[in-house]
Amino acid sequence: MLDFVMGYVAGERTAARAAGYARSAGSAAQSSIAGDLYDIEDRMERMLLVIEAMWSLMRENGLTDDDLAARIRELDESDGTADGKRTPQPVRCTACDSMVSPRRTSCAFCGEPVASGGPLDGV
Ligand SMILES: [Zn+2]
Repeated sequence: MLDFVMGYVAGERTAARAAGYARSAGSAAQSSIAGDLYDIEDRMERMLLVIEAMWSLMRENGLTDDDLAARIRELDESDGTADGKRTPQPVRCTACDSMVSPRRTSCAFCGEPVASGGPLDGV
């Protein structure tokens, strides 16, 4: 099952996208893109380590592979689309009621800090 999770995280679309960037990049931008790809690969390796640790703890505490697969499907579908990823949704500012992009850490209209997206932020 862990192989399934790792394959899910490091899906073929990511590899295809990276290869496409590398093919289309000019020589001046190649080193920057290579550095970005290294950073992405480094973050992915750390995320996989966290996932492996979490899943081993969960399995030790009685959860099954079917439980994990069901939760993955549930989270995938939570944004309204079963597409193998979670698309962050805008959040409502608690101070001024404006909608705030999930990419922002504070409201663009009033500056109120907004909650972070998830437990793996910063990994
Ligand atoms: Zn606001």
